[in-house]
Amino acid sequence: MVDEAYLKAQIRTVSDWPEPGIQFRDVTTLFENPKAWRSVMDSLIHRYMDVEFDRIGALDARGFLMGSVLSYAMSKPLILFRKKGKLPYNTVAQDYELEYGKATLEVHADTIKKGDKVILVDDLIATGGTLLAAGQLVRQLGGQILEAAAIINLPDLGGSKTLNEAGIPVFSLCEFEGD
Ligand code: AMP
Repeated sequence: MVDEAYLKAQIRTVSDWPEPGIQFRDVTTLFENPKAWRSVMDSLIHRYMDVEFDRIGALDARGFLMGSVLSYAMSKPLILFRKKGKLPYNTVAQDYELEYGKATLEVHADTIKKGDKVILVDDLIATGGTLLAAGQLVRQLGGQILEAAAIINLPDLGGSKTLNEAGIPVFSLCEFEGD
């Protein structure tokens, strides 16, 4: 498992972006560091290597980068949860609230089969609204969520608690206190 202090040191914090009061945890610095990026993805691959699951659900947009590597390395189908209006075929949609604003998440209606076990991935859990919306879409289509995995958890924003209460186990590689 990647060392938490090492991982946190690879993530840039940008204060007051995109709005005053937000501490934005910028993972582009992690993506620019091949050694750190490899240890993040290796940690996730190791975690799910011996787990039986059917699909990886990746969240728009930084979750796509993680989902893509996992899907390739583990030979598992990749599902894209996209922001409204991007998917071309029949979709199901779920509105949700963000730390800063509101949004709608969509997924193709035929992408999850009844009983499919799904692992969700995103870069960061703040309020948990995005992953919860993805979880609701998985359930609406008859699938079940094995776990929601993120690089970063911000526990003080309550997202991991909200997800746990909704029956979605959470896994993260590091945590930042406060917001
Ligand atoms: P939430 O739905 O509140 O858990 O927000 C999670 C989504 O918003 C993730 O896709 C993150 O990329 C993004 N996000 C929310 N808050 C932050 C933050 N403080 N720093 C970086 N990304 C964030």
